[in-house]
Amino acid sequence: MRLRNKPWAKERIQNYPQYVIQNPEQWKGKWNELFQNEHPIHIEIGTGKGKFITEMAKQHPDINFIGIETYTSVIVSALDKLIEAELTNLKLLNINAIQLESIFAPGEISVIYLNFSDPWPKNRHEKRRLTHRSFLEKYQKIMQHGGQIHFKTDNQKLFEYSLVSFSEFGMILTDVNLDLHHSDFKGNIMTEYEEKFSAKGNRIYRCEAKFPE
Ligand code: SAM
Repeated sequence: MRLRNKPWAKERIQNYPQYVIQNPEQWKGKWNELFQNEHPIHIEIGTGKGKFITEMAKQHPDINFIGIETYTSVIVSALDKLIEAELTNLKLLNINAIQLESIFAPGEISVIYLNFSDPWPKNRHEKRRLTHRSFLEKYQKIMQHGGQIHFKTDNQKLFEYSLVSFSEFGMILTDVNLDLHHSDFKGNIMTEYEEKFSAKGNRIYRCEAKFPE
């Protein structure tokens, strides 16, 4: 992603602690207290500018959503959408997903969305892919039994790599879709990247992978 540095972004997110949660470690095992309900919690890793997670939160008020994005200059755009929508079932975290286990307790999360994750095509960067085994191990630790990953990308190589990674990890693949926009899949919410790449004619791949019960 080409990043435009926004020196003011840090201060802006600090001004909205009700939306971008500061020191998220303090809520480990207590996220439902923060949301003040017992609804399931879904997280998106690599939320980017936040279109997907904001729309999901609007359409599913009975689910709590958390968008995770490492870049302050990017998450600030997701914050703008959240401020406008005034949603109580969506929070944002400006952190790197490497830290997940210090932020969520075992069993706290039921679905993880990975949308257009960076492909890291070089072999020596394989461990940075969000579908690498080391990330799947982290996800499994914080997810309920039978928790799911919903993954979308336009990158065929990353998609193939991820299908193998899920399956080698013992996950069950469901709904493998090789051309999402020309399928009968209902209720797709497009991300910013999805809009951009599908407009160029790129095919969109999607799958759901379930951790063992
Ligand atoms: N999901 C958005 C979309 O589809 O429009 C953004 C896609 S962009 C290619 C990938 C995003 O993931 C970037 O904003 C990047 O900063 C974020 N990201 C990558 N690795 C991450 C990590 N380990 N933790 C948190 N965010 C990450």
